Amino acid sequence: MIPAYIEDSLDADELKAFLEHVDSCPECSEELSIQFLITEGLNTLNDGDSYDLSSAMKRKVEESHRNINVHNKLFWIRNAAVCLVLIMLIAAIAAVNFFYFS
Ligand SMILES: [Zn+2]
Repeated sequence: MIPAYIEDSLDADELKAFLEHVDSCPECSEELSIQFLITEGLNTLNDGDSYDLSSAMKRKVEESHRNINVHNKLFWIRNAAVCLVLIMLIAAIAAVNFFYFS
């Protein structure tokens, strides 16, 4: 998943699993650093710019964590909205039954 991560082509669930694993696995974390440095290093050579690759790597991982937090928030907002609609539906059915049968 490392090349896919570097290309930003993981979906949200894959990204979450990937980051959780990398955070807890020194070997994959090391591998990610190496592949990131190679990929970004080549891009940097092509661009002719020099910049701090290891802080670029940290920024990328931090940004991914932020993206996941936003994704989680959206997930809960959507669940809360679905619950609210269901509650309103049940209340509406209860109200109709109440007026119809009383
Ligand atoms: Zn691992």
